[in-house]
Amino acid sequence: MTEFAILRNIQPQPELVREDIKKDPGFGQYFTDHMAHIRYTNDDGWQAHEVKPYGPLVLDPAAAVFHYAQEIFEGLKAYRHADGSVWTFRPDRNAARINRSAERLALPQLSEEDFINSLKALVSTDEKWVPTPGTDADESSLYLRPFMIASERFLGVRASHEVDYYVIASPAGPYFAGGIKPVSIWLSKKLNRAGAGGTGFAKCGGNYASSLLAQKEAAEKGCQQVLFTDAEEHKYIDELGGMNLMLVTKDGQLLTPALSDTILDGVTRRSLLDLAPELGLEPVERQLTVDEWREGAENGDIVEAFACGTAAVITPISKLVSDDFTIDHGDTPGEKTMALRKALLDIQYGRVEDKHNWLVRLA
Ligand SMILES: *Cc1c(COP(=O)(O)O)cnc(C)c1O
Repeated sequence: MTEFAILRNIQPQPELVREDIKKDPGFGQYFTDHMAHIRYTNDDGWQAHEVKPYGPLVLDPAAAVFHYAQEIFEGLKAYRHADGSVWTFRPDRNAARINRSAERLALPQLSEEDFINSLKALVSTDEKWVPTPGTDADESSLYLRPFMIASERFLGVRASHEVDYYVIASPAGPYFAGGIKPVSIWLSKKLNRAGAGGTGFAKCGGNYASSLLAQKEAAEKGCQQVLFTDAEEHKYIDELGGMNLMLVTKDGQLLTPALSDTILDGVTRRSLLDLAPELGLEPVERQLTVDEWREGAENGDIVEAFACGTAAVITPISKLVSDDFTIDHGDTPGEKTMALRKALLDIQYGRVEDKHNWLVRLA
């Protein structure tokens, strides 16, 4: 096993500042004292595994990432259990996914061992930054953000010969500070996030860049999120651009669009499908149309809708708004939606037995 050299930050945040941040961290605003780093070159492969003080990167202005967006990332969380130990959830899935993303973006493969060890090395070094939930409703955690960038100084268009992989960590408070609030979503019909043969299934910054204008349009329509459909006919449901979408039928099906090259294979999505039978739900992955959602909601067949992803776990959906119709599921989170949410959080925070062996200890 390649050990990570630990270069300690000689100026960590003072304890009082750190504890203050952990009381109300919000999301993605504060970062821990260290970051993990592995360097790659075509000649030498992955090398120089280290944990070092968190701080700005020095990159050449001609580094490929700035010009051609050869970049991928991951997102997962570290959860503190009641006994003080710190765990993460299904990191093997994130490790596999970063390699699918890497392949699509012509970046090098990173071993599962390096990926998981980078999380362990960083979180054990910055263990004091992992919030301790006060109650079961306190969904605070340490958000982990691995990412890989093309750092070679070269303006020619080809895959970079030099790459850097980092992991940074950010304490995160409950996503819904004032209790769980269903969101309204805008149906994007002109702006697409992904197309056949493109990068939609990869977790790359470019997909997010292409979703931001649609997100702005959603905000102008009074919605918090945007729903993307297939780019050809705008008929089939894809996902929300940062979260997967699920529907619950009155006869107990948990419906979600089947994976394709325009849908990201979410770990939350997969886990909810895996947990569904334990909650009396039948998981169904297939193509879903906007029309069948609308008709199902009108005739009472589709009773709940929610979005899912690591950051917010499960976000109930109150409405889907478009130019010509609105689907309305009401402002109260659905019963199955909340049961699934609790089942997943109970595993992640170690409040129930981890029957699926999904947890991996980090510290
Ligand atoms: C990260 C992400 C998701 C959710 O994936 P999780 O593994 O559940 O966090 C969904 N859609 C997109 C586009 C994403 O980038």
